[in-house]
Amino acid sequence: MTEDLHDRQIRSLAESILLKNYKVTFFLGAGVSTASGIPDFRSPGTGIYDNLAQFNLPYAEAIFTLDYFKQNPEPFCVLAEELYPGNYRPTVFHCLLKLFEDKGILQRVYTQNIDNLERVAGVSDEFIVEAHGSFAEAHCVSCRKSYTSQEVWNKLIDKAGSHKGIPHCSCGNYIKPDIVFFGEALPQRLFNQWDEDVDDVDVAIVAGTSLTVYPFALLPSEVPRRTRRMLVNYEKVGDFVKGRRTDIFISADCDTIANKLAAALGWEQDLKDLVEKVLETHKEYKQKRKKEQDEVKPDDVTKETTKEADKTEAKQKPKQDKAETKQADETNSKLDKPELTDGKSSEEIEDKLSKLNL
Ligand SMILES: [Zn+2]
Repeated sequence: MTEDLHDRQIRSLAESILLKNYKVTFFLGAGVSTASGIPDFRSPGTGIYDNLAQFNLPYAEAIFTLDYFKQNPEPFCVLAEELYPGNYRPTVFHCLLKLFEDKGILQRVYTQNIDNLERVAGVSDEFIVEAHGSFAEAHCVSCRKSYTSQEVWNKLIDKAGSHKGIPHCSCGNYIKPDIVFFGEALPQRLFNQWDEDVDDVDVAIVAGTSLTVYPFALLPSEVPRRTRRMLVNYEKVGDFVKGRRTDIFISADCDTIANKLAAALGWEQDLKDLVEKVLETHKEYKQKRKKEQDEVKPDDVTKETTKEADKTEAKQKPKQDKAETKQADETNSKLDKPELTDGKSSEEIEDKLSKLNL
């Protein structure tokens, strides 16, 4: 296909959107985030791959299995710290989503990505359906207590205490961000929202996904026959292979097409301005967070960790798996005679012991 044909198709889609007041629904995969520099943890030579290599994962995907996480949460925590919202900048494509929202013609964004970049670009929660979960919330794997993204981040970067950057719940078990692991149910919101949206999809833009993960892969095939569909990906995937008469397939990188679509809609300058604004906000956020991180005094961290460890000790369940027992042992060894405390501080006990001349 020639470049001209692509341009004509994009212009024609843009005209339909503007003239017929169509709303646009997006279906996204990893390809839309590539330009932000997010590393593929399965690719040798990337920093994250090298960091994970030390853990000798039985297989790469083990990092996203609950059983493995419960035994050894450290590799996932290393990955989570790397991918945590705020570390990477949104791409031009993410900014285009926000522009669709600002123009009042965004229907929904269904994303398989866990990088949160749609939110970082400013897209409102109501428009985003994170099919495979996100870091926006987290829960204890045992008691299901919920934690905010910020609370988990604070625990992830706190390497000074006995938990060494592995987020622990007050019950002593591990906290896992609400990323959907293998074998876990997908968020109910995906099904509810899709039920509501499926018949109302005027325009479906599928971008940067190989459409191999189900049930997400089926969504673009379930839209009505009247829906205008566009696939931006390096190869035809899903039911775009067989295709519909009105389908548009463009083999190109997502940001290039985001720019072209914005230009065809007459939003070229709007997109440029928005990208600049979003990147500036992101830069400021990163600087602020770095400053906050640098300001954490080791004393504060130790105090908080000890408090946490006391709670852990008090609420430990009698039956624990190996990893938890090991963790509890580590916790104990960092405390002064916790088994003697009985609600009293170790200073009080040591004071009594010294009076008894033991
Ligand atoms: Zn818990």
